[in-house]
Amino acid sequence: MPEAVRVARLEFEPSGYSLWLAGDELEYLVSLDPPMCTCPDFSFRLARGRPAPCKHLRAVLRAAYWGAREEMRLPDSELIRVLAEGRPPRASRPT
Ligand SMILES: [Zn+2]
Repeated sequence: MPEAVRVARLEFEPSGYSLWLAGDELEYLVSLDPPMCTCPDFSFRLARGRPAPCKHLRAVLRAAYWGAREEMRLPDSELIRVLAEGRPPRASRPT
């Protein structure tokens, strides 16, 4: 039984760079390359020296393979801010 984690893909234009949001409120920023999640669980695993995908990363991997359910397109200018703040854009609304 797969964990129910909400996932949305952010696609930035015109670069085509993509990032993911995951979590009940899409509160975590997830990257596949390199594999990274901003949730406490992922940080904890890293700090313990046992890097392993958290449930968000696993959900994003599934969505990347099977197709994302939610997608957002944002200008590249937003990408800078998302990366700098390490969290999703406040005004983002899944389409
Ligand atoms: Zn996570």
